[in-house]
Amino acid sequence: MSAQIIDGKALAAATKAEAAAEAAALKAKGIEPCLAVILVGENPASQVYVRGKVKDCGECGIKSLELRMPETTTQEELLAKIAELAADKTVNGILVQLPLPKQIDERAVIDAIPPEKDVDGFSPVNVGRMQTGQPCFLPCTPAGCIRMIESTGTKIDGKNAVVIGRSNIVGKPAALLLLAKNATVTVCHSHTANLKEICANADILVAAVGRAGFVTGDMVKPGAVVIDVGINRGADGKLHGDVNFEEASAVAGYITPVPGGVGPMTRAMLITTLYRMSGSPAVTGENPYSDVPAGSYYEKAVIWAMQKGVANGMGGGKFEPDTRVTRQQAVTMLYRYAVKIAGI
Ligand code: NDP
Repeated sequence: MSAQIIDGKALAAATKAEAAAEAAALKAKGIEPCLAVILVGENPASQVYVRGKVKDCGECGIKSLELRMPETTTQEELLAKIAELAADKTVNGILVQLPLPKQIDERAVIDAIPPEKDVDGFSPVNVGRMQTGQPCFLPCTPAGCIRMIESTGTKIDGKNAVVIGRSNIVGKPAALLLLAKNATVTVCHSHTANLKEICANADILVAAVGRAGFVTGDMVKPGAVVIDVGINRGADGKLHGDVNFEEASAVAGYITPVPGGVGPMTRAMLITTLYRMSGSPAVTGENPYSDVPAGSYYEKAVIWAMQKGVANGMGGGKFEPDTRVTRQQAVTMLYRYAVKIAGI
């Protein structure tokens, strides 16, 4: 074997340690990050995933609410629960574990989660903002893949990247994030011709197919970074990736294992997103749904607004308007001024 292993467990542990420190700092300011996880029905795999997410929150000092609803839950009942959590100021992030029972329309549920609490990054607003390169909350698995690639020191800029799979939760967002980092991206799927040749030309290969051992050694370019998203339960009862690890690791430069690769990193990214939602500025970009855009203009605009008497300052990543004006009036004035001084 020549490839170096990208250790998802170690990277995830480091990411979670960062999150724990951030959560402690937020608590000292009186902000307690809180994730609400809704599980509908008895799907055993979903139960395991939810338990894992709740455990991660506990380890990072983050509060979590595990809300279980019966298999017979109607769409209206689930939407009502989401509306309740959306209005609850003590809840920062809402996650509805998928898949849902067949009587519930997944799309309607995802659409009902407000973008500022959409910890999975699946809502149309977050997807649209990612597509247009605006600050947003990213889906955890593809965001974790990017961190893993960058952890190798590989520069994504200018590289040939191939993503196998085009699902809304992994393939498409992974391709968009690689494109945003200036890779030349090819997305392969079940209708792709010459898939092997395309893959063999990839400096970065992301496999999100859902078929054990799909990527064989002859599909890997020597020295490539191979990210295996797949989680497939084999007849042996063990978990297998989409990549034939033995063959691919003889050719690749870097490779993620399964288990112990993308899986733990995905869970760690969820926590990172959650404390961003809770107003922590310590990670790249502040909460994009704070009242005004983050950055130096923000500070200037808040100072200006204080001079004008429409703001008292900032707290927890939120703009605090003066009591003499409505929040809406203050935000509108502040935003107009920020745009004016930004010259846009
Ligand atoms: P989907 O089933 O939604 O998508 C699979 C994609 O693979 C589709 O785009 C499909 O193409 C493509 N595909 C299937 N067969 C072939 C083929 N023979 N040749 C080329 N392309 C093919 O799966 P997900 O994206 O949800 O998940 C992918 C894998 O990642 C699964 O194993 C899943 O368990 C795992 N996963 C792991 C996570 C983690 O945390 N590690 C998180 C999420 C998923 P088409 O669109 O044409 O049908």
